[in-house]
Amino acid sequence: MTFYLASGNAHKVGELQSLANNSALTVAIKSAREVGGMPTVVEDAGTFVGNARKKAQALRPLIPAGAWALADDSGVCVDALQGGPGVESAYFAGPQADPVANLAKLEAVMRDVPEGQRRARFYCVLLTIGPDGEEQVFEGGCDGSLLMAPRGAAGFGYDPLFVPDGFTQSYAELGDEVKSRLSHRARAWAQLAAWMKTRKA
Ligand code: IMP
Repeated sequence: MTFYLASGNAHKVGELQSLANNSALTVAIKSAREVGGMPTVVEDAGTFVGNARKKAQALRPLIPAGAWALADDSGVCVDALQGGPGVESAYFAGPQADPVANLAKLEAVMRDVPEGQRRARFYCVLLTIGPDGEEQVFEGGCDGSLLMAPRGAAGFGYDPLFVPDGFTQSYAELGDEVKSRLSHRARAWAQLAAWMKTRKA
């Protein structure tokens, strides 16, 4: 079974490929780059599911017959920002979707928020469209809190600011081994893998 990932984000492709490799499923995750690149999608649906659907639907006409389209829409939801940047995480610092500027903005807007009021949650929707057009939605979240300043070099996006519950280091310090066990994306993938197994049975 082959999934084509509706994303131009190499980090998401890498994380999902390693999640797939470590699951009991025999699946391959291929990048949109292998079918000419991810078409431009305006992420204006206002929800993670809606944006994921737009991405999967945009890629679907490009993938080979029999393959699955897979979209990941994700972001960080911060209590002190009433759930923001949330679905706007990729565009927090502007339409250029610059991850360095986004991280700097999150650090800046949270500068005066004291310890204890820095709760945040990463959230991920994985949406698949099968060869027959059937859509499935899987969700995962990971609770934690935000550091006062970024730490660590692994991962991507907001990882240097986010400390998952039960740890004292950021995702960017903990690295892939921890992130692949408890991240929002890992949990959404676990839901997808469980569904795939029941489907095959
Ligand atoms: P989108 O799903 O393409 O709308 O982009 C999601 C945005 O949320 C990314 O640009 C990142 O800034 C952020 N994000 C999503 N997942 C992660 C993650 O695992 N680590 C850090 N940042 C993430």
